[in-house]
Amino acid sequence: MTALCDKTATELCGMLRRKEVTSREITESVFKRMEERESEVNAFITVTRDLAMEQADQADRNLQHGKDLSPLTGIPVAVKDVLCTRGLQTTCGSNILKGYTPPYDATSVERIKASGAVIVGKTNMDEFAMGSSNENSAFGPVRNPANTDYVAGGSSGGSAAAVAAGETILALGSDTGGSIRLPAAYCGITGIKPTYGRVSRYGLVAYASSLDQVGALGRSAADCALLLDVICGYDRRDSTSASMAVPGLFDALKKGMKKGLKIGLPQEYFVEGLDPRVEEKVREGIAVLKDRGADIVDISLPHARYAISAYYLIATAEAGSNLARYDGVKYGVRSDEASPDLIHMYEHARSRGFGDEVKRRIMLGTYVLSAGYYDAYYLKAQEARNLVRRDFERAFEQVDCMITPVSPCLPFPLGEKVDDPLQMYLVDIYTVSLNLAGLPGMSVDCGRVNDLPVGLQIIGRPFDEETVLQVGHTYENATGQTDHAI
Ligand code: GLN
Repeated sequence: MTALCDKTATELCGMLRRKEVTSREITESVFKRMEERESEVNAFITVTRDLAMEQADQADRNLQHGKDLSPLTGIPVAVKDVLCTRGLQTTCGSNILKGYTPPYDATSVERIKASGAVIVGKTNMDEFAMGSSNENSAFGPVRNPANTDYVAGGSSGGSAAAVAAGETILALGSDTGGSIRLPAAYCGITGIKPTYGRVSRYGLVAYASSLDQVGALGRSAADCALLLDVICGYDRRDSTSASMAVPGLFDALKKGMKKGLKIGLPQEYFVEGLDPRVEEKVREGIAVLKDRGADIVDISLPHARYAISAYYLIATAEAGSNLARYDGVKYGVRSDEASPDLIHMYEHARSRGFGDEVKRRIMLGTYVLSAGYYDAYYLKAQEARNLVRRDFERAFEQVDCMITPVSPCLPFPLGEKVDDPLQMYLVDIYTVSLNLAGLPGMSVDCGRVNDLPVGLQIIGRPFDEETVLQVGHTYENATGQTDHAI
């Protein structure tokens, strides 16, 4: 029998409504699993057991005589430690923010609280969301629940591993260049990055503001839809938030994938450098969708090869300026030693507070933006970004969505790439272009190679999360990953 903590949110929501289970029982099951697995997986930075039990009891009272309750009522959700939580430490995986307790909630957190969900803790992550393997955390790496000698993927590795291990049911993550999709793929779960502007970034600690987006991780497309239905929507506190109506995404799944839906396969994504074992799994996944009536079309994204360079120039430039605020005065650890001057004090705080990768990015970003290099690097990168975006626009005149791998390789052993930043950056080759173009993308589990999970990426038109989720849901149903009807 499946333990409560291994069930989908969709199923638990039904069980709660039918009074077959209480939120307390579900939440206890999650914490029991944490006791069993957390010491090896290391998915959490902060666990909020007492608070969670209170929220679970409150949810049970509401469910007793409730009407108009959100489907998330009583469902455990973990929050990536990049999102501000009122009264609860928010570290962003960094020593520099250790002990920082925000006086406010991020909008996405506020919304899940209002929905009656149960917050079980703050998840581990690469420091300031910079990384692809979750080895850049000041709180130790996250280990892949499928095999703890392997990385969980980053930077939302804690969120993905927690869902995969049954240490939560759902989780919030953030994605600047793949940070939801990559760990979702490596941990064998479902993770979606919505369109830029779909979810408020208010209270999301900024990494690269023009690329950052909050999103959802769960055990199925349907579970992600439940979470997105709560967090999507306009927020006047984020000036880049889109004032567009959000369709009921969960309800939209009932329609299923459109007959004759055109799915594009970008030729530039299936080339040398892609592990043939990963390619085989992704192609098997495509065949499943073809079998379900999708029309598979070859397409071209001719500027795809510029995406990684453009991304790492833009992301580091934005990070360099966003991270200037951690100076030991406004934010960050203040040195106790007397400093002879202000600069010395800043240096002291920043050299001790930041890890190596964050320092590398700040240096790169500062260089990219410096006089004399700005045109050659930063402006060029913005031009490349436009080309990448236009490629997608053109391709979407022909197709309704696209399918690609999430990662060119399988999850790798811990330590394998930490000393080779360029190798690590290349892991993001299939994910960063969506952030450059602001598009929605989702990773779904498409099988195992040597017991290690492989993910398939579904890319949609701007603000068309609906199609992305429908394709994901159809695929999961066809492959027997979701046993529940919705
Ligand atoms: N791996 C990418 C980076 O390190 C993406 C990270 C993210 O999406 N936050 O920048």
